[in-house]
Amino acid sequence: METAEKLALLAASARYDASCASSGSARRGALGAANAGGVCHAWTEDGRCVSLLKVLLSNRCRYDCAYCANRASAEVPRASFETDELVRIVVSFYRRNYIEGLFLSSGVFAEPDTVMERMNEVARRLRRDEGFGGYIHLKAIPGAGERTLAEAGFLADRLSANIELPTARALASLAPDKDGRAIVGMMRSIDGRIREDADGRRGAARRPRAWAPAGQSTQLVVGASPDSDREIVALAGALYREVRLRRVYYSAYLPVSTDPRLPGSPPPLLREHRLYQADWLVRRYGFSTGEILEDDAENLDPDLDPKSAWALRHLDRFPVELAKAPWEELLRVPGIGATGARRILESRRAGGLSLEALPSLGIVMKRARWFVTVRGRAPAGAGTDLALPRLRALISDRPAPRGDDAPGSAPAVDTRSLEAPHPSAVHPGSAEGVPPVPAADPLQLELGLGKGAA
Ligand code: SF4
Repeated sequence: METAEKLALLAASARYDASCASSGSARRGALGAANAGGVCHAWTEDGRCVSLLKVLLSNRCRYDCAYCANRASAEVPRASFETDELVRIVVSFYRRNYIEGLFLSSGVFAEPDTVMERMNEVARRLRRDEGFGGYIHLKAIPGAGERTLAEAGFLADRLSANIELPTARALASLAPDKDGRAIVGMMRSIDGRIREDADGRRGAARRPRAWAPAGQSTQLVVGASPDSDREIVALAGALYREVRLRRVYYSAYLPVSTDPRLPGSPPPLLREHRLYQADWLVRRYGFSTGEILEDDAENLDPDLDPKSAWALRHLDRFPVELAKAPWEELLRVPGIGATGARRILESRRAGGLSLEALPSLGIVMKRARWFVTVRGRAPAGAGTDLALPRLRALISDRPAPRGDDAPGSAPAVDTRSLEAPHPSAVHPGSAEGVPPVPAADPLQLELGLGKGAA
């Protein structure tokens, strides 16, 4: 197969992996359309957006994960890059300014250690022979040896071991070749090495390059298994807490076969979006995973962003007095994000905070108006008690259903109200400030997370 054909095939095969943020524009023939060439975007530690060549080393795989287009039993064209071939492509794209880095994953075409060593070989050639200083994200293959992993972290900026499914039960059913404990074990090894490296370099006169300086991430496929949002959110929280992932990426399942173990249709994209919103609350806004899905709720509310849903369950904590509330309380108000909260604090310091100024501070008044006061004054029309269904309809970011239970007129969808940005707009950030979560449940323990796990 010609190199160009391989590139098209192996870039297309890599598009199912969401663990390096967004893919490039898919508009055929349009200026900036980058998807076809396998170019996607990711965010570096210092907030820069970088273009990456996102590609598989090989789409041959011994494993037969039911949800994967590259599974062993799929009848698809197969190809693998030679090391020299892929190095030439990366260097050529880099010199032409098409890309600033490489996201390299692979099917498990041989023993895990061999596969990862082959990926290391590409990275090694780029770094050592070609002097490539761009961003490299390498897939960590569970089961690879410690020596291979050690070298991968010296070569790559970021590593990611994909857990793919949120429970050991789902892995056993849909990805029987995968071992959840081995995947979490790989994440623990990566985290351990990052910690050791940071300790070793602390106070060193000449600081060598950090080991995997952009940390680790993972991907969870949503909707391929019947697992609930509660299980997904709890797992993500445990991963942020225990192995300090920088990001969990959620990827709505795309039907790739008629396997009866799989659903016939994909989950609504809104579900993926709600999970990103919940993730954002946990990583950035100080919510615990237990607060996101309280009581017996198994799934996130499709009609409300998770912060608004939490606020409606805790109306006793509102209204929040914006002239006095601390940062953490401001972040809990629907319609107020980190930028709005910062501007409120600045405006307070300058003595200019008023109800009238709130929209100009970036506050989404459609939702915030029902939850705030400024020096005792509520926004116009918001001071009266509203029945919960009416309030719910007013702050929903989806049109209310038609019918008897539709409370009042349906509010239009307000895209500004979707506070947590889509991953394509999110800096990978760090997991600092992740609040404690409840003790691990039995499913997490099965995956090797939680108290007593190795
Ligand atoms: S290991 Fe599973 S998910 Fe990964 S390429 Fe192979 S079949 Fe696909």
